[in-house]
Amino acid sequence: MSHMTIDEASKDLGPLKDRLATISDLNSAASVLAWDRQTYMPKGGVGGRAEQLASLARIAHEMLVSDETGRLLEDAGQAEPGSEDAAILRVAMREYDRAIRLPARLVAETSRATGLAEPAWIQARERSDWSLFAPHLEQVLTLKQEAAGYLDGDHPYDAMLDRYDPGSRTQRLRIMFDELKAGIVPLVRDVSAGLAEDRVAPLRGAFDKETQDSFGRAVITSFGYDWSRGRQDPAVHPFCISFGGPGDVRLTTRYDPNLLQISLFATCHEAGHALYEQGIDQSYSRTPLSGGVSMGVHESQSRLWENLVARSRPFWAHFHPRLRDAFPGVLDGLDLETIYRAVNAVQASEIRTEADELTYDLHVLLRFELEVDLFENNLTVAELPEAWNAKMDEYLGIVPENDALGVLQDTHWALGYFGYFPAYSVGNVLSVQLFEAAVQERPEILPDMERGEFGALLGWLRENVHSHGKKYEPDDLISRSTGRPLDTAPYLRYLESKFGEM
Ligand code: ZN
Repeated sequence: MSHMTIDEASKDLGPLKDRLATISDLNSAASVLAWDRQTYMPKGGVGGRAEQLASLARIAHEMLVSDETGRLLEDAGQAEPGSEDAAILRVAMREYDRAIRLPARLVAETSRATGLAEPAWIQARERSDWSLFAPHLEQVLTLKQEAAGYLDGDHPYDAMLDRYDPGSRTQRLRIMFDELKAGIVPLVRDVSAGLAEDRVAPLRGAFDKETQDSFGRAVITSFGYDWSRGRQDPAVHPFCISFGGPGDVRLTTRYDPNLLQISLFATCHEAGHALYEQGIDQSYSRTPLSGGVSMGVHESQSRLWENLVARSRPFWAHFHPRLRDAFPGVLDGLDLETIYRAVNAVQASEIRTEADELTYDLHVLLRFELEVDLFENNLTVAELPEAWNAKMDEYLGIVPENDALGVLQDTHWALGYFGYFPAYSVGNVLSVQLFEAAVQERPEILPDMERGEFGALLGWLRENVHSHGKKYEPDDLISRSTGRPLDTAPYLRYLESKFGEM
């Protein structure tokens, strides 16, 4: 009687899907307002916009945790295993469950605490004064630890991870980071020791903004970014944003008139996120299955296009004469090898967001270890600056000159985003695992890249990653597409061969 099951499921899911679609619309509308705030909103809009965003967030939250949603979820029963309805129920149930477990008082207190912590952090960073931020961080951390108590996990930090990467566990990340540490720390030492010259020098000069912009646009057009379903605008902190479906996926970038790679790689990175969102099955729009499956997989897409593609020799074989022609008089005579070495220069630095491909994970590792220590109560907020500097010294051989260049550099903690950082390294690891699987199945990908053609690569990613949205759990998606779970070996081999050679 299988048709009965299907009829019953679709009959029961209608009202639930309508309700979830409305919640999705509220969140998408909030995203449009957030996009505007970070691009074109005049300063005077700050206060009003904060109210508008808070109201939409509150209404969406109230709809999600309402008795009505609970009743519809309960009545939905079981959908056909493996079906899209089953996936919708699984994801909706998880979001509902997570939302109702946290007391309204705790949600409100956390929102208030982070609202105060963010401006305090901005001021503390400006003055490089940890004492201005520390009491706020204590408050945010206490509330997050309390939240962890209401949520599932083998470890108190698991509840933080789960929000960004469903199913991610502290214990498994510990193993991943230990493997990365063992592979990367000695490699950084070797590579930095041999680097006296300034390899970035060819990318310094005067590069007009319009030409940088049109070059970046040409590059991501060749990647397959669809301008009829998106746009690019300037923003201080580049980001990608979508509005509940693949029909409108926007990215932003920033320009440094004296340093060519800033805008280009920000554009490629955000385009990687955008290609993911543009590739999600249209029928998932306004359902819980829309959007990337996890922050880790999302970051694997941005890093794949930024590093595996745009920092590769095949890519530059095609684009280096075009870049040279775009900036006559500035880049005359620039050859392939020089630009390849310039975009892959390694230099241990204090700031994570400016880190090169090789040292990047050490910045993440440090934050992961400190966050775990905080959640295990092995470290206090007061001890953070000293612990930070000790790890910087141990992993990267540098001690930040001040806290603004050290423990105060990221906005994540002020916003309460504990558990977010590991996604950056998970993304790096997965980017190579996915790229190798793609090249193995479609060997034309590399020769195509030398001709500036990326259709085979994008096609593989669409089929194996993008189109599925949140239908599968992150681990299942990776096993299905690469034949095995997350594996650091391909990534470490890639770093070893790329940077060992230089
Ligand atoms: Zn990213």
